[in-house]
Amino acid sequence: MAKKRLIIDMDHVMADITSQYIKWFKEATGIEMQRQDLLGKPEDQAFPDPQLVRKFLHTPGFFRSAPVIAGSQEVIRELNDSYDLFIVSAAMEFPQSLSEKFEWLQEHFPFIHWQQVILCGSKRPISGDFMIDDHLKNLDHFNGEKLLFSATHNSDIDNSAYTRVNNWDEVRRLLLQLHALA
Ligand SMILES: [Mg+2]
Repeated sequence: MAKKRLIIDMDHVMADITSQYIKWFKEATGIEMQRQDLLGKPEDQAFPDPQLVRKFLHTPGFFRSAPVIAGSQEVIRELNDSYDLFIVSAAMEFPQSLSEKFEWLQEHFPFIHWQQVILCGSKRPISGDFMIDDHLKNLDHFNGEKLLFSATHNSDIDNSAYTRVNNWDEVRRLLLQLHALA
């Protein structure tokens, strides 16, 4: 039986961009933001200086040094055996992030083959059975089941069109259980 196709986003799903924003913002301004301050607000607008935060995204090293989200390595390694798995990340808006994201994947997810990595502009042409992403703008065009990965900026969204997953343990339970039932 053909494996089901699983599409996984990087930022806020594998890479802890929120922690990176908080760290870089503190280094630049001395102000330490808490995660609860950011709940329900767009990523950059949640900070007192949105322009500065936007600048981080164009700064070399920002994506390369992002921490890994807890559980993602173990669970993606498991899912990689059971699913036709692709990492899909919109990187074209920040061209320096292309090489940084690929190097980051090679360091933290060495079991992901380069043929499984799609660094793109828009995710609209992507199709599959499951997509894990933290942004509705990516999930809305997707033809399969939409898994909304919890991030500070999407905490207010309550919509039955998306299956919310709060962490990688929940993804494991959902997708490995589904695979066992198939
Ligand atoms: Mg994302």
